[in-house]
Parts: sequence; C-alpha cells; structure tokens
Amino acid sequence: MELLSRTLARVKPSPTIAVTTKAQELKAAGRDVIGLGAGEPDFDTPQNIKDAAVAAIASGKTKYTAVDGIPELKQAICAKFKRDNDLDYKPAQVSVSSGGKQVLYNALIATMNPGEEVIIPAPYWVSYPDMVLLAGGTPVIVECQLEQSFKMTPEQLEAAITPNTKWLIFNSPSNPTGAGYTWDELRALTDVLMRHPHVWVMTDDMYEHLAYDDFKFCTPAQVEPQLYDRTLTVNGVSKAYAMTGWRIGYAAGPEKLIGAMRKVQSQSTSNPCSISQYAAVEALNGTQDYIAPHNELFVRRRNLVVKALNAIDGVICPVPEGAFYVYPSIAGLIGKTSAAGTLIENDEVFATALLEETGVAVVFGSAFGLSPNFRISYATSDENLTEACKRITDFCAQLR
Ligand code: PLP
Repeated sequence: MELLSRTLARVKPSPTIAVTTKAQELKAAGRDVIGLGAGEPDFDTPQNIKDAAVAAIASGKTKYTAVDGIPELKQAICAKFKRDNDLDYKPAQVSVSSGGKQVLYNALIATMNPGEEVIIPAPYWVSYPDMVLLAGGTPVIVECQLEQSFKMTPEQLEAAITPNTKWLIFNSPSNPTGAGYTWDELRALTDVLMRHPHVWVMTDDMYEHLAYDDFKFCTPAQVEPQLYDRTLTVNGVSKAYAMTGWRIGYAAGPEKLIGAMRKVQSQSTSNPCSISQYAAVEALNGTQDYIAPHNELFVRRRNLVVKALNAIDGVICPVPEGAFYVYPSIAGLIGKTSAAGTLIENDEVFATALLEETGVAVVFGSAFGLSPNFRISYATSDENLTEACKRITDFCAQLR
C-alpha cells in the first residue's frame, strides 16, 4: 500500500515558498542575493499592536480560547466590516483562523464534494487550486490576459459556470498582479452570478487596504447585496498591519457555513494563537493612521519598478491598482539565450537563470497560472529595488 494519499499526489508545494528558500540558500552560501519573492510588507508590526500582545501575555490571556475566535475580536471584525465595507454581520457569522490561508482552506474542506468545481481566475494566488484539490474538488482556471488587465470578463465567468460550479474565488487587489476591480467591473461579474443562484462567492480581500491612486476597493456583497447569503468575505491582518507572522485571518458569511468551518477547525488546529487574537483586536480597533504613509511608500516603489521594467525591450509591465506586486510579461524575451548560455524557453527558466546569473529572486508566472510572466514583490527597500531592476535590465540586455 502506498504511504502517501492519492489526494496529496495531485498537489504541489507552494512555489513562492520554494523560491524564498532557494534565495535563502544562495545567500547562506555567500551569494549577493536580492529577494523579491516574499509576499510580506518589509516594515515592522506597529508598536500599539505589539503592546496589546505584551499586555495580553501579562494578564494571562495565554490559554485556549473559543475555537473560532474570542468575542472581542469577533466584535472588532463586525465593526470593521461595517466601517470599511458597509456590511452588517453578527459575531455568530464570523470565523477567525490562523491566517487567511486557513480560513480559505476551512471553507473549502467544509463545502467541497468530488466532482464539484471552483472557478479560479488566473493569474491566481498559488494556493487556491491546490487547496481545492486537497478538498477533493476540481479547479476550473479562467485565464485573464495582460490585454484585459488580468481581470476576468463577465463573458468568461458566464462561460466557466456549469451545474457543478460551487464557488467562484475572487481576489482584488490581486496577488500576483496587483489588479483591482472597479465597482462597475465587479458589478458586471455579480450580475452574472445573480443568474446562477447555485454559485457561491469566496472573496479574498486580503489586500483591501493596499489600494493606490484613485482606486476604490469594493467587495462582492457590498456591490450586490443580494449575494450576501452566498458570499464568504475573507480578510486578515497580515498585509495591512504587517502581521504576517502573527497568523490571524478571518471571514464573515452565512451562519451555516461559518458553523461548518468551526467544525473543521475544532477537529484540526483549534483556536488561533490567543495572544495574536488580542493583538488583532488592537489592529482593527486602534489607529489606522500608519496605513496611508505605508501606501505612499508602496506607490513610490511601484512606480520605480514599473518605470524600470517598461524601459526594457521585450518586457511589458502594467501599472497595478493595489497590493505590492507587479506581474510583467516577458513574451518578447522567450526564445533568446542568456549570457551564460541558457535558452529562455519559458518563465521558469527565465526566473532560474535570473537568480543564478544575477542573484535576483522573482517568482515565475507559471506558478500563478499565466505565462510568460514573472512576479516581483516590491515590499522591500528602494535601494534593493533599484539594484534589482538594474540587474534585471542588464540581464535582459545581454539576451541574444
Ligand atoms: N490571500 C492572498 C491573496 C495572499 O496573497 C495571502 C498571502 O500571501 C493570503 C491570502 C494568506 O494570508 P495569511 O494566511 O497570512 O493571512
């Protein structure tokens, strides 16, 4: 009998974590490596949030909590949904987990049956298709090209829906492209969903607060209130509050679904870290004043990177509305050969050659379901970005 499960055999490990590990190995071996692979802000968790965690420890808030979140945090989450998204949720409609990743996973495990499908627009966050596979479902990938700003059209959504569709996973602003849907663009998609009452929406709003220029974030249940009863609105504190290591994500939706997710969590990890939950209460209820200055910094870095990449022959880099990623196309470079003699057959070869020949770590597009592209995370210093862009420019200039 085979030791490993057949389900696991269908799943691949996270390629973003693989790139980060490879970059760390090269660094440890003494190479001068600039890592642009990590999906986390480079600034520290704000002091008021750390203080709340220290206070939680000092007052003995170090024991098991309610399985899917302390009442104080559920209250803070309800207040956040009202304040930011004009959505009314009761604490019984809220679930807190160890990161947004676990929220999404719980929801899929709680709902998927063999043969049921999940629509995932590509480029997608790497974990969606594999989570669907782990949950026993079938991912249905809809490719959204650069020419359509990486956004799914209502026609594409309509064509992807079948009687077996259970969920649409929606992510705006997106990881890996940074693309954000306007109210009207989202409305066109929710209009399609209104014609298919069996399809549920899992909206991953993790980058809500990282929205730039005139872009206004919006979320499906806000744009189409009639979808409220079949929408799971997912969010978390990792990105906006620089709290990736604290592992707190949350969601709100119909009580029946939230109860099923609680059941999954109760038989797997139980409650998320008690101290992190108290820190998250402060993140949501405390000052939001540092978000705007952080975003100013991100906009400056985004502009720096987009300008440098677009100056390279064979590279096209759209300007994203949010998050901290860019997703340039390298269609113009495929088929060329690097200075070290590597034939750039696809984006994975490109990213590997770039890392080995210049020490710049990026993630190849095929990991996100749309090629030939690569993803840069610009959540790092201006100096790192300037040097990395210079090395990418030189690398591309030497391709023959
Ligand atoms: N969703 C998206 C689109 C992400 O990019 C990430 C993290 O990279 C997550 C969810 C998970 O975030 P966390 O588990 O840290 O809350």
